[in-house]
Amino acid sequence: MSGTGASPRPAVVAGNWKMNHGPADAVAFARELELEAEGVAEVLLFPPATSLAALRGALAERGLSSRVGLGVQNVHPAERGAYTGEISASLALASGAGFALVGHSERRHLFGETHDDTARKTAAVLAAGMTPILCVGETLGERRAGRLEEVILRQLDHVLTTAGVSDRLLDGSRFYLAYEPVWAIGTGETATPGDASEAHAILRSCLIDRLGSEHGLDVPILYGGSVKPENASELMGAPEVGGVLVGGASLDARSFSAIVQSGS
Ligand code: PEP
Repeated sequence: MSGTGASPRPAVVAGNWKMNHGPADAVAFARELELEAEGVAEVLLFPPATSLAALRGALAERGLSSRVGLGVQNVHPAERGAYTGEISASLALASGAGFALVGHSERRHLFGETHDDTARKTAAVLAAGMTPILCVGETLGERRAGRLEEVILRQLDHVLTTAGVSDRLLDGSRFYLAYEPVWAIGTGETATPGDASEAHAILRSCLIDRLGSEHGLDVPILYGGSVKPENASELMGAPEVGGVLVGGASLDARSFSAIVQSGS
């Protein structure tokens, strides 16, 4: 179950496959997934866009279509046009994605995405009727310099303001947040449950300030960074932690299933 206090909703367990698992591997994953057709945790998968159709078909064959939400790892902010190699939110939606990751640290740090890019992508995802999962997080240098709060609030605030995420908008749309300390992504270093709770509480109070308590408390805040079956339960039990975003450990169906089980 999700953390105490702020979030009464079920834990969200999301798997980000990054640039792994083509269609055949996606089908094999779906066949090995050990999920009950009904369950408490909200389960989401973000395969490469080229594997979305195969994964969707394989989940349907197992009767898991309504149990597992699908998303894309990135979108282009424009709706259509001459943007070779890019995918718009409406194209992702038409391929079966209801969610999109936005502002993942690999997009920010490897591809130079700015706060403005992240805000424009969030706006595009919301305009398409999809749910963004906005990822925020500090580098090790920023953490050591005591800048955790400043960095994650700037990342969140810019998107809320520029993408027009307001209490009125959230009457009809959903918005998820993921706290992913950059130093914990793909490194084997995991934030302690206390570190995660501290950052989530900072984000939660900003959400309540900006969106009011009804919507501010309703936004799930996921923790991401080297989550594995061994630490998932402790992290998901921490105050304010409403679920997990899992990279490496989501590639193996058995380990991902075990993490989902920890959230149920
Ligand atoms: C991620 O990519 O969002 C992530 C958290 O990766 P990992 O679990 O591998 O650290």
